[in-house]
Amino acid sequence: MKEIFETYDVVVIGGGASGVAAAIAAVQNGAKTALVERSAYLGGKATAAYVGTICGAYLRSENQLGRFVSGGFLKQFVSELQIKSKTDLIKGKEGLQYLPYRKSAFKVLCDDLIRANKIDLFLQSTVHSASKKGSTIDNIELLNYDKNIKLQGKSFIDCSGDATLIDLLSLDLISSDQYQTSTQVFSVSDLTADNIENFKLSMMKSLQKGMRESGLTKAAKRLSIMPGASDFNQLYFKLSIPFEVTFETNRMTELNLYARSLVMEIFDFLKKGNKNFENARIVQIEDQVGIRTGRRHLGKKILNKREVLASIKDPTSIARGSWPIEYWSMDSKPKMEYFSLDDFYDIPAACLCSDSIDNLYFAGRNISADDEAIASARVIGTCLQTGFAAGILASDKVNGIEALESIKKVQNKLEF
Ligand SMILES: Cc1cc2nc3c(=O)[nH]c(=O)nc-3n(C[C@H](O)[C@H](O)[C@H](O)COP(=O)(O)OP(=O)(O)OC[C@H]3O[C@@H](n4cnc5c(N)ncnc54)[C@H](O)[C@@H]3O)c2cc1C
Repeated sequence: MKEIFETYDVVVIGGGASGVAAAIAAVQNGAKTALVERSAYLGGKATAAYVGTICGAYLRSENQLGRFVSGGFLKQFVSELQIKSKTDLIKGKEGLQYLPYRKSAFKVLCDDLIRANKIDLFLQSTVHSASKKGSTIDNIELLNYDKNIKLQGKSFIDCSGDATLIDLLSLDLISSDQYQTSTQVFSVSDLTADNIENFKLSMMKSLQKGMRESGLTKAAKRLSIMPGASDFNQLYFKLSIPFEVTFETNRMTELNLYARSLVMEIFDFLKKGNKNFENARIVQIEDQVGIRTGRRHLGKKILNKREVLASIKDPTSIARGSWPIEYWSMDSKPKMEYFSLDDFYDIPAACLCSDSIDNLYFAGRNISADDEAIASARVIGTCLQTGFAAGILASDKVNGIEALESIKKVQNKLEF
């Protein structure tokens, strides 16, 4: 018999961008809330894989700079992160706008918000089983560092990124024939060069020569410099990993080992063969290879590519997507598909509500969406909104509030 730690109104699984947003929204909406995270810190891919920039918070625009796609929690979180990170908005090609952030600032901001909102946080806690009665989830079990405990809940929100509850409860899912490629981020210090453009050019020339003449891994052509979050004393690099992402047993071990070996091969080559790397040191290879997408929950509605590209509007919207479809296949560059400038698409509430379980919601990169739609809706700005919305929907459900009333509440709070 496991110890029953506590009974909650809302239990959130996963403390990435969406889970943090969900827990804050639920507690601010009056729910007794638990947040369970398997790492020792919050942020998910934003911190453990250090993806480096916040996308999907601003409209894509040629003439309006820094116009948020929605207000409320999204604007507060991103504005606070910008202050803590001391970074500036970047305007990229095609009117794309994104904010570089510091990983430590993201972690600390999440800690501060969880503490200020008095959320019961369980770090280093992995959810490993769940039980339901009929079509209602009753409890989850987690390994809380070294203790096995049980949390009962009235509503559950799966923000695990990988739709953890699908396996644990044998639920229907949305899977893909092929998942997007992953990326390993790493940072290097003690580089020398007079300016960044010359540095890039010299590095690419060395890598091309190495691939052509010295048998250097062809993955070297997938190396890029992360925009914005770097200064010249320490640069962050992104290496897209040519290794098929699948969810077979222990596949993540192979992927992480392979990614680190590629980083070391490329770095060692540059250190020997490029003068700007002569004294360079690797500061960090980020904790995880970044997995872009995985299995998703099957909701009452599946957001699809047509709706994204048509910037569809929906009266039951609970989040607004502003990032294009950015699909990473095995090619070295992503395929981008855009909708109109200065516009957004709506994500209906039904994409966050389980098709089969009455008290299950989901948010972030495991919402109910097809392969292309999730290639847009997975970015952090959108995850913050779907997380916030799921927190309101789940906590209102506990109090018997009608879904339509809840949706109106989300729309007001996010200032649609
Ligand atoms: C390589 C890469 C580059 C990207 N670039 C950008 C970018 O530049 N800008 C941008 O906005 N977005 C980017 N993204 C997308 C974005 O980072 C993620 O989609 C987003 O952060 C996902 O947030 P989430 O909360 O849905 O899930 P996650 O961040 O995946 O968080 C899920 C959390 O759940 C926890 N968890 C999982 N299972 C369990 C369990 N059983 N028990 C307890 N906890 C569990 C995990 O530890 C994790 O902390 C990128 C993604 C990748 C991979």
